[in-house]
Amino acid sequence: MNKKPIFLILLLLIMVALCSCQKESDITRQGFYFDTVINITVDEKHLSSVSDAMDLCAEMENTFSPTKEGSEIYKINNNQNIGISKDVRTVLDFSMAVSKESDGAFDVTVAPLTKLWNVKERTIPPTDDEIASALSKVGYENFSLTGSSEDFDIDPGAVAKGYAADRVRDLFIEQGIDKAIIDLGGNVVLIGEYSVGIRDPFNPDNLYAKIMLKDKSAVTSGAYQRYFEYNGKRYHHIIDPRTGKCAESGLASVTVISESSMEADALSTAIYVMGEDGLSLCEKFPGTDALLITEKGDVITTKGFEEKYSLTLFN
Ligand code: AMP
Ligand code: MG
Repeated sequence: MNKKPIFLILLLLIMVALCSCQKESDITRQGFYFDTVINITVDEKHLSSVSDAMDLCAEMENTFSPTKEGSEIYKINNNQNIGISKDVRTVLDFSMAVSKESDGAFDVTVAPLTKLWNVKERTIPPTDDEIASALSKVGYENFSLTGSSEDFDIDPGAVAKGYAADRVRDLFIEQGIDKAIIDLGGNVVLIGEYSVGIRDPFNPDNLYAKIMLKDKSAVTSGAYQRYFEYNGKRYHHIIDPRTGKCAESGLASVTVISESSMEADALSTAIYVMGEDGLSLCEKFPGTDALLITEKGDVITTKGFEEKYSLTLFN
């Protein structure tokens, strides 16, 4: 019986393969925001832009953190009357769209469950009664940004990092940067063309596959990222809001490609909950593609993925 909590803050969920695409004058700077390590790589002549990017990450964290008192999400969750910023409106509107299109597999009001499961600190799973009680407070259908009849608890954890990565990309483009790797804890956004490695979910130190991406974002969700083990079973950070328990959809990881990192972030979490059927979600969000690794180690992709992204499998 293993009651020891195992909590992994994954440094890089997706490994940007340091390949020939990088130049000698490229520099990488590291920061810690959104409870994860972020890495930003640009040509050294753009070093000052990196500190602008770090400031922007701090601002985004102070906006979207559900635990930081004074953040906009904290205020919404604590019924403090505030005006809603464009950043929060964009993220919550999009989260609602994904909640609807995924039929609640993704649910922006999932916070009572993610708080209950709290895989960062828990060593024993919650009881069925505790799960049922938290579950009764979850339900995007009754949530509205303009005021809900019930109290809701928002968790933007599956999408806010993606939004922040998009904001950093927009900032860099405004500043005339034409090559950059923006990696917010595995939410990768590329300006220019790079080779990107997809981690092996069964052995996260290794790569499972490699793809070529130009001006796109890649985001991976998987049960190997944050979890604890109890009685030989793994309890991870992605919750199925239909059962109130950790998602068990037969997938080991889901990588979504999109021009928008917010979109790739939300969809990778949603598809992870939905399983193989979730691949159809990409049809509802034009311009997105996905690569699924099943628990058996099979690879399933959207149509044309292999050619479009020059997919190389290592296993
Ligand atoms: P990601 O690592 O992007 O897949 O997102 C996982 C994070 O999203 C968790 O740590 C929670 O904060 C939140 N989350 C977990 N399950 C769900 C869900 N079914 N729908 C929306 N957000 C979720
Ligand atoms: Mg996500």
